[in-house]
Amino acid sequence: MRILLACGFALAAPVALPLAAHARHRAAPVEAPKVHRVEKVADNVYCIFGQGGNIGLVVTSRHAVLIDDQFERLVPGLLEAVKGITPKPIKYLVNTHGHGDHVGGNVVLEKQVTAIIAHANVRRRMLTEQAKLETAKRGGLPELALGSEDPKERARLNVYLDDTELHLLHLGPGHTDGDVIVGLPVAKVMHMGDLLFLGMLPYIDVEGGGSFDGLVSQVATVTSWIPDDAKIIPGHGPLCGKKELVRYRDFLLAVQAHVKARPGKSPAELAAAFDGAAWPEWKPRGDFVTWETFFSVASGQGPGRVPRP
Ligand SMILES: [Zn+2]
Repeated sequence: MRILLACGFALAAPVALPLAAHARHRAAPVEAPKVHRVEKVADNVYCIFGQGGNIGLVVTSRHAVLIDDQFERLVPGLLEAVKGITPKPIKYLVNTHGHGDHVGGNVVLEKQVTAIIAHANVRRRMLTEQAKLETAKRGGLPELALGSEDPKERARLNVYLDDTELHLLHLGPGHTDGDVIVGLPVAKVMHMGDLLFLGMLPYIDVEGGGSFDGLVSQVATVTSWIPDDAKIIPGHGPLCGKKELVRYRDFLLAVQAHVKARPGKSPAELAAAFDGAAWPEWKPRGDFVTWETFFSVASGQGPGRVPRP
């Protein structure tokens, strides 16, 4: 599941339990690592932080909706965190995109939800990856898909559950070719998935159909839409609002303008000439996205991340 694990990393999460020590003494079952932390976003909307992408939880009058699910091994802890918020059953699971740190728990959760919902390209890419796995390890595919295989085609699905309305929007290629933004118009909350990274440079998965210019355009569009008091759950990083999103848009536009003004320059040259210190909210990570890999994708010259060993 190499592609699916493309942005599988932990952010602001406690260090995992020393599982190696457990592995030496297999007599007792290993307890699920307690990595989850809950923050209330608005009435009946929560963010669950852990290892991997931020999870959204929406509580309606009779049900709950989960947005992303991190990793399979963390599902027991995730369900405990959900139970700490509400005893209501999870009816729908929405995937913001297909990376393994957002859909890894699907294979377990599909047994208890009515449906998994995602963009059509998430299902298509998961199917391709799962064809390489043993039959027993397959599963967790989205059953309700919005959009088509053409990522440029905008798509929208409204979900009406009990007293709550959720808007699922696909605005084109961005982080991948199957990104979905989840909006809650009454609560004024958006889960932007990995279209928004805060605290680290954004990752654009070129192999997964992502597009830097597409990301810039989507972020600009969303910024023009949302109210000043909107609350935003990023795919990675702390909760934020419109102010941070405007700043992210300006950062992306500055990068885009920097590249356009320097045709023919290499990613290293582009990175060296850019004033990264002016944008401290977006830090490079040596093992993931550096300034050079970021400019490689911004200038259409290469993948958006450091190659895996
Ligand atoms: Zn991702």
